[in-house]
Amino acid sequence: MTAADQDWRNGALGTRVRVALWLRDEVGVGNTFSRAALRAAITGAEQVDRRMRDLRPAGWVIRTNLDKPSLRPEQLYLEKVGAPVWERKHRGAGLRQISAKTRRDVYARDQYLCRRCGIGAAEAYPDEPGSTARLTLGRMSPGGTGSAVDAEELMTLCARCDESTEDTAGARVGLAEVWRQIEALPDHLQRELLGWMAADARVMTPVERAWGLYRQLPTGQRDATQQSLRDLLKS
Ligand SMILES: [Zn+2]
Repeated sequence: MTAADQDWRNGALGTRVRVALWLRDEVGVGNTFSRAALRAAITGAEQVDRRMRDLRPAGWVIRTNLDKPSLRPEQLYLEKVGAPVWERKHRGAGLRQISAKTRRDVYARDQYLCRRCGIGAAEAYPDEPGSTARLTLGRMSPGGTGSAVDAEELMTLCARCDESTEDTAGARVGLAEVWRQIEALPDHLQRELLGWMAADARVMTPVERAWGLYRQLPTGQRDATQQSLRDLLKS
């Protein structure tokens, strides 16, 4: 083992290992840090937040203000360093792999739409013109421990919703604005929304399910399908 094998700046190491080393060397047990600082340190890597969460099943204890109310929303607290994942024999600690089949099954079950915001792959976010959504898998219950690998424990999320799963700061919208929109809904839609809230997931309607599947078709077939529907409605 060389010094570079335990240097969080070493881009050749896996992201989870780099995050672990950064926490050990730059934060230290008993100290707080922010996601922004973590992201600024581990550059050029995708899904840094998720890799940090992946340390938890390896015995790392990282608190948010959800389970430690003395923390500010943007603060995280390193309570315990777990398995030394930078050592070869611990590299896979706490990680169970999601099989390619499970991945496909979950996407298909969710009609290739984010279960939180309903966006489909490669669609643009309404509040971010020109953006492109990327789908990934997230766990059903954010509070769970261990890594989720079974279809029932997983759901389709876009990368943005996945990254914000544990963010409590409400960075994009204020509570008052959200409530204003909710209050303006007619009764039956408020009731529907309450159902989604209780399930912590959007329940797809038949038309949304059809839309999600349609969006998976290649462009030529989408055009043909659109024409067929037009013809069907004319007849
Ligand atoms: Zn989403």
